[in-house]
Amino acid sequence: MRIGIIGAGIGGLVAAAGLQADGHEVTVYERRDAPGAVGAGLTLFGNAFSALDAIGLGGPVRAVSADALGRMRSGQRRPSGEWLVSVPPGSGPEVRSLHRAELHSALLARLAAGTARAGRTAQVDPGGEPVVTVDGVPERFDLVVAADGMRSGARRTWGLDRGVRYAGYTAWRGVTASRGHLADEAGETWGAGARIGIVPLPDDRVYWFAVLTAAEGADFGDEPAVLRARFGSWHAPIPALLDATPPTALLRHDIYDLAALPPRFVAGRGVLLGDAAHAMTPDLGQGAGQAIEDAATLVLLLRGARPLDAALHEYDLSRRRRTRTLWRGSRLAGRVAQASSPAAVAARDALMRAMPAGAAVRASARIARWPRP
Ligand SMILES: Cc1cc2nc3c(=O)[nH]c(=O)nc-3n(C[C@H](O)[C@H](O)[C@H](O)COP(=O)(O)OP(=O)(O)OC[C@H]3O[C@@H](n4cnc5c(N)ncnc54)[C@H](O)[C@@H]3O)c2cc1C
Repeated sequence: MRIGIIGAGIGGLVAAAGLQADGHEVTVYERRDAPGAVGAGLTLFGNAFSALDAIGLGGPVRAVSADALGRMRSGQRRPSGEWLVSVPPGSGPEVRSLHRAELHSALLARLAAGTARAGRTAQVDPGGEPVVTVDGVPERFDLVVAADGMRSGARRTWGLDRGVRYAGYTAWRGVTASRGHLADEAGETWGAGARIGIVPLPDDRVYWFAVLTAAEGADFGDEPAVLRARFGSWHAPIPALLDATPPTALLRHDIYDLAALPPRFVAGRGVLLGDAAHAMTPDLGQGAGQAIEDAATLVLLLRGARPLDAALHEYDLSRRRRTRTLWRGSRLAGRVAQASSPAAVAARDALMRAMPAGAAVRASARIARWPRP
């Protein structure tokens, strides 16, 4: 089959690598000048690896990721360092962490030369015909995959857009320049309208994210100074991680999700995949994992002998069912984690303290199961 893919993000590249390995003729269009990665670290859970394994990509992605996070004590702490939920090393579901740039490189390396075309802004056909138009020149395929991210033009063109919603908080991401900051503890620390997460990377550097409740589009001025003022008195090694991160390695994004999910993930011979279909807040760490699940599901469904329309119908049903729960769950998790009034913070922390670690582990294990088609 000839398949055109719009977007060389994680979703588009996993789909491209999986489909091409199955013998499909694949072209990926990416509007940026290089199909590389923007971003810092990333965590992927067992569901993402089950999906990657199913299409032969588990090995290459494991090779650029680390399982150190799962071997550390993790969970949630208070800014003082007191554990609210303490998950002992090795007791959670599979989780691996990696640098986005290395994930992109590993995926790009799986593609035949010339598959990914950078600097091409692509448009889909409003009627769902499998046609991709770049610079006014249409190209016909058998199927078009729109993996063009949260603000997907394809979703809009197909009449499936319900807008995006500002979640009420902004997130910084950083990677330390130096190594060896973590001994045997990672996880998240929750304050009032503020939290920080710590993740070990494969090369012993540390990926961290800091989240503050803020007005949409707020201007923070000297951002490293703001972070130090807000988190500099929190437990070790948080101040040291901030100090070990060059200001040029800081990224900040206001956090959005889709205001409502599209009524369908399929339009004629076109499919939405990844954030284009179901952008969720990052609070469950499942956005990229779901893009990977989408891609693997599509690859497997196209392997079957059933007609294309039937395969797309199953993709639509199964992926909408799976991602709706996580899109909602991410929103809820973000609200709880960003609680800011003293009463809400006290109630949240009391609830967390009362939760047995086993219950927290079981809840994340339920999420980390890919419903293979
Ligand atoms: C702070 C933060 C932390 C996160 N942490 C995690 C985590 O730990 N684990 C996790 O699983 N997820 C995480 N996520 C979510 C994850 O980053 C996204 O869900 C994932 O990257 C989505 O991938 P995608 O391929 O669907 O979209 P994108 O990565 O947005 O890729 C879309 C691509 O399409 C291209 N494009 C757009 N329009 C066009 C066009 N018209 N023509 C050609 N190209 C086009 C874009 O340039 C882009 O390269 C996090 C998100 C944030 C904001």
